[in-house]
Amino acid sequence: MKILVLNAGSSSHKSCLFDLSQPRADGPAQPPLWRASLDWTHASGQVELSAQAGEASLQQVLPTRDRTEGLRAMLDTLVQGPTQVLAQLQEIAAVGHRVVHGGGDYSAAVRVDGAVKAAIRRLIPLAPAHNPANLEGIEVLEQILDRVPQVALFDTAFHASLPPAASTYPGPYGWLAQGIRRYGFHGISHGYVAQRAASLMGRQITDLKLLTCHLGNGCSLAAVDQGLSVDTTMGFTPLDGVMMGSRCGSLDPGILIHLIRQQGYNADQLDTLLNRESGLKGVSGVSNDLRLVMAAMAAGDGRATLAIDLFIHRLRQGMGAMIASLAGLDVLVFTAGMGENSPLIWQRACQPFAYLGLRLRQGELQRSGQDQDIAAPDSRVRVWVIHTQEEWAIAQACLELLHPAP
Ligand code: ADP
Repeated sequence: MKILVLNAGSSSHKSCLFDLSQPRADGPAQPPLWRASLDWTHASGQVELSAQAGEASLQQVLPTRDRTEGLRAMLDTLVQGPTQVLAQLQEIAAVGHRVVHGGGDYSAAVRVDGAVKAAIRRLIPLAPAHNPANLEGIEVLEQILDRVPQVALFDTAFHASLPPAASTYPGPYGWLAQGIRRYGFHGISHGYVAQRAASLMGRQITDLKLLTCHLGNGCSLAAVDQGLSVDTTMGFTPLDGVMMGSRCGSLDPGILIHLIRQQGYNADQLDTLLNRESGLKGVSGVSNDLRLVMAAMAAGDGRATLAIDLFIHRLRQGMGAMIASLAGLDVLVFTAGMGENSPLIWQRACQPFAYLGLRLRQGELQRSGQDQDIAAPDSRVRVWVIHTQEEWAIAQACLELLHPAP
């Protein structure tokens, strides 16, 4: 069964095609037959299209800002040119979409219909950069692949299990009726890596307390107890929580009042300041990319050193908070760009938790293309570095929804 997965960002659109006709296994993710991406960030008025199928690849620059045109060109690479893997698009049996915001209504994958599209549209004010792109992806695919089932997976869905004390902000009670509450994000990734860690350990997820740390461009932590998210660091928006590449994470909200009153900031300026000019980038003045900030730190740059120290400090605080919500810890998982690749982060993040009996392996820790357990044999907490596979998880969820296991 050929399943196409679409993952829309504010200025990108990634896609993969999986063939899941083989029996489902609880093993590692299987590589896609084809993957492609559209990237609008490089030149104005143009989109960069890349596609790959096995050894074959293709790169094109198209003179359009239009997402629909870009998506049509991207799908053409499935059926023609060097990356062709299908005779016709009608071979696609289902399409899975990653949708950032599903509000409080969705706790699992859903078949897209008018009500689901209306919900995604209604939630645009809560995810203005993402939900419109997700909706456009769905509508373009409806036009191209008439009658092929489409499935939406929400980044918020995994956190639908947050108890009220974790999902409510301590503002006025009326906020709840306005939808101002904590939703949490990166749910597809947190859910996948938690399940994968349990499978690698040969354990049932329902017997474990896991802390999953998704550290990519955006960073969030989740406390997963018996398979359910019971707390997470991102909140109403993906700006809350730990420090990130260019986002600040949690701040004293009094700072915003101060900036508005004393420096005349408006909403758009605050949005740019907190989402794009803060975090590792804002503090170091170097970059939002951890690799470049670490290189500057190694060269003796004081601001880069402060940025990394602050990142680690905030990360440890978040981990401590999640461990408190779990009331215990069996497994710690690191995932996404920084989490999969940075031994410095593993070491420094874990250091204060030695009191829990958490100990990393002796000797030099190294990044690996494989998922790996980096805890010492006698550690009371297992520590896994797991490569997140959001597209694979979406394809699996589509299969499960459309053809549930008997
Ligand atoms: P996204 O959240 O956009 O999917 P990723 O999960 O790909 O992002 O994470 C991207 C970030 O991962 C980069 O900005 C960089 O900070 C970090 N990263 C990637 N590779 C490495 C590496 N080898 N060492 C340290 N950090 C890395």
